[in-house]
Amino acid sequence: MPCQSSDELKELVKEARPIAKQGRVADYIPALGKANPNDLSIAINYPDGRCFSAGDIERKISLQSISKVITLALVLMDRSKEYVFARVGMEPTGDPFNSIAKLETMAPSKPLNPMINAGALAVTNMIKGDSVEERFQRLLAFIRNLSGNDTIEYNEEIARSEFETAHLNRALCYFLKQHHIIEGDVEQLIDLYTKQCAIEMNCLDLSRIGLVFALDGVDPQLGKQIMPMNIARICKTFMVTCGMYNASGEFAIKIGIPAKSGVSGGIMGAVPGKFGIGIFGPALDDKGNSIAGIRLLELLSKTYNLSMF
Ligand code: GLN
Repeated sequence: MPCQSSDELKELVKEARPIAKQGRVADYIPALGKANPNDLSIAINYPDGRCFSAGDIERKISLQSISKVITLALVLMDRSKEYVFARVGMEPTGDPFNSIAKLETMAPSKPLNPMINAGALAVTNMIKGDSVEERFQRLLAFIRNLSGNDTIEYNEEIARSEFETAHLNRALCYFLKQHHIIEGDVEQLIDLYTKQCAIEMNCLDLSRIGLVFALDGVDPQLGKQIMPMNIARICKTFMVTCGMYNASGEFAIKIGIPAKSGVSGGIMGAVPGKFGIGIFGPALDDKGNSIAGIRLLELLSKTYNLSMF
């Protein structure tokens, strides 16, 4: 069933778009700096296959931090809750996503949660496989499965651009290695992580993955559980408590939808039991979240009374 352009969503996009002017496209990863700050698009996917959209939903975006929640799901399936949470915590930080501060001040020194870079790097390191290539292909296969799209790939230019400039992420890795949270080669981990963050898809794919989380791991089209229910729930809880970085509290109050953002300007939303949302709006606020994307979700949540609280 093709995705249907929706006048109601177009109206909300029109209302949300002007705030993009107050944001900025991320350019600390040079390849992301090319995005058009005024872009804004949304796709919503329902369990019965209906899909509604506004804007250019075919445009591909790299997942960036959105990938963290998907990798967490894979690693929880690969390992166990006990294994994963012995190395990464479950608490929000209140610090920026790439902060190193709490690693030093907390004892024992483990990343506070899997949504900040330190935690995500530790989680990516837990993906099973004998080589970077094998581990990456396993993650890609999982993402293709979740989205129902076999053609999903990663953007080599974005991966390379981040690999060449990821000094802070390297620093986080060395800190984690010193404290035995990770083992192995840091360059290989950065290679895997930057490829993971550069996996590309459009809003439609993103909304399909959001839908699987919304439905506790079930792919509604196949009627199949592709992720255990308890794992989907853990991921959704992290989306609520840490998914929008250090703006997660305000987001929960204003919008009340489990969501995960990335510095490319993507947001994946999972309205429990109802539908999945994919948004792209590359102008970011000072926390690194899509500024117009958040406004759009706020309008959507208010208009249709979507808060889960
Ligand atoms: N790849 C990005 C980084 O590690 C992801 C960060 C993000 O989207 N917040 O810096």
